[in-house]
Amino acid sequence: MVLGPQNLAESLRAVRARIALAAARCGRNADSITIVAASKSQPLTAIEAAAAAGIEHFGESYVQEALGKLTAPQAAGLIWHFIGRVQANKTRTVAEHFAWVDSLDSVEHARRLASQRPYHAPVLNVCIQVNLAAEPAKSGAAPAEVRALAGAVAELPRLRLRGLMCLPPQAHTLEEQRRWFAELRHMFEDLNAQGAGLDTLSMGMSADLEAAVLEGATHVRIGTALFGPRPRRHPREGPDTIPP
Ligand SMILES: *Cc1c(COP(=O)(O)O)cnc(C)c1O
Repeated sequence: MVLGPQNLAESLRAVRARIALAAARCGRNADSITIVAASKSQPLTAIEAAAAAGIEHFGESYVQEALGKLTAPQAAGLIWHFIGRVQANKTRTVAEHFAWVDSLDSVEHARRLASQRPYHAPVLNVCIQVNLAAEPAKSGAAPAEVRALAGAVAELPRLRLRGLMCLPPQAHTLEEQRRWFAELRHMFEDLNAQGAGLDTLSMGMSADLEAAVLEGATHVRIGTALFGPRPRRHPREGPDTIPP
């Protein structure tokens, strides 16, 4: 199902209302929270509708699929985040076409992205994805590796380390959800206490955005709450970072 412009404006209003309510609960300004529309498996028409409704940031998980959308004339001026599993053989395309990589998890990929980022392009914004619960099906650096990885990324040219990202285990209560996000926030605060200068906490999706906002998310990545349920993924695209 694809939501048309009317429905999209409506679902965006609902998402913004959820963010505003959570922000009010903890005394945050809702304007400090950016929605990244997770548009994987959504057609260009849905992206256009979201852009018309006021969304600027879009997140894509599959390089091939994303390329067809972000190079379209209708997509000019939108800000693209790569939020999927980084693969060594696709880093060049990512470095050439995205403004952000929210899901970096290795020094090797960081080096490739740095050397492949075109000189005429602005620096590539990067978040380190952390696999908080060491879940085998998910990518992300182990919590114990994050400090060293952050240090290595900060040394590389053409990349700017902005923050941390996570895709925590499914949790069913607000308290349980908050616990994972609080863990990421603590890592973020520890890095900043050492002078890392990070400004981005990318955490929270359709089902848990309130918990993320309460724990300090600056970017929430929202798919189904904006676009409706996703059509099934093409099997050629390889493993997903979250179960479909
Ligand atoms: C698909 C996806 C999302 C959005 O998930 P929803 O539950 O549909 O909001 C967020 N982050 C990543 C990394 C994703 O792959």
